[in-house]
Amino acid sequence: MKIDLTYTLEVLEELLNTPSPTGYTKKAIEFLMTEFDKMNIPYKLINKGGLVATFKGENDECQRTVSGHVDTLGAMVREVKNNGTLRLTNLGGYMWNSVEGEYCTIITDEGNEVTGTIMTSAPSTHVYNNARTLKREEENMEVRIDAVVENADDVKALGINNGNFVYFDPRCKFTDHGFIKSRHLDDKASVAVILGVFKYLVDNNITLPYTTNIFITNFEEVGHGASYGTPEKTVEFLAIDMGCVGGGLQGSEQKVTIAAKDSSGPYDYDFRLKLQELAKSNNIEYCIDIFPNYGSDASAALRAGTNIKHALIGPGVHASHAWERTHQDGLRNTYSLLYYYLVSN
Ligand SMILES: [Zn+2]
Repeated sequence: MKIDLTYTLEVLEELLNTPSPTGYTKKAIEFLMTEFDKMNIPYKLINKGGLVATFKGENDECQRTVSGHVDTLGAMVREVKNNGTLRLTNLGGYMWNSVEGEYCTIITDEGNEVTGTIMTSAPSTHVYNNARTLKREEENMEVRIDAVVENADDVKALGINNGNFVYFDPRCKFTDHGFIKSRHLDDKASVAVILGVFKYLVDNNITLPYTTNIFITNFEEVGHGASYGTPEKTVEFLAIDMGCVGGGLQGSEQKVTIAAKDSSGPYDYDFRLKLQELAKSNNIEYCIDIFPNYGSDASAALRAGTNIKHALIGPGVHASHAWERTHQDGLRNTYSLLYYYLVSN
């Protein structure tokens, strides 16, 4: 099978440029609904905002579910400060220095967008003796709003208030050598791969051996993404989420990682062996790694009491939750492994 990533990359770019911090994922979910509509794959929204699409297969009694999460890191306004800046609270786990200097957008409850920049409260070496040494932690970070404001009242007059979502500029770039640099490749890269594979199945009239659900979750970054919503007949649950890179791991931006264990414990051994076998027999560049500081939607589903065999695969993402980068080869290897799994018995 020849993999054409054109559609996957189109979806990825569109998704990366559609803000969806945890808790504010509507626009990204709507975009995915239109893509499922185009493919004629039926879906339903669950109450918490996630999406479950179902692709009918020969066996409807034993089903498979593959998941990807569309929520990303982000922030929320915690305080409108007297000096006219904003204090933030984080959505998801990241280092404050990884968003220092980032352009951001605040969305008001009326739906107006106001731009700004995240910086420390001592952002200039000309002015502050502690500009270099100030600890990059929540209480020292603030948003400079791109509007003429002198105090909290001026800011509130713009409609900005506590609880407003703040999203980061993704700075999405596709480079000449196949790299993709952007925030939020976790997990939009995987979601784009999933859509690419299903578009291929639809375009080529391929019937899968098992009915397969595509579960797009929207609260993964805070841990409870797939804790509800896994279709009842699911036997195997495959989470597609980024593989970690660096620090003695085998993962790379060019490979698909098969996780053996994460902070929730080991993944289902038989399921993992099967994925390894598929990767080997189809010349897919893969590796096996262990992620001690990582949880997935498959483990969230299991923890919630879902009776499934679970596994986790995904493209390597370097500097995850910070200056993320992956490579088209990593997407291709993930695409390939997902495809061969879906058509396998
Ligand atoms: Zn993720």
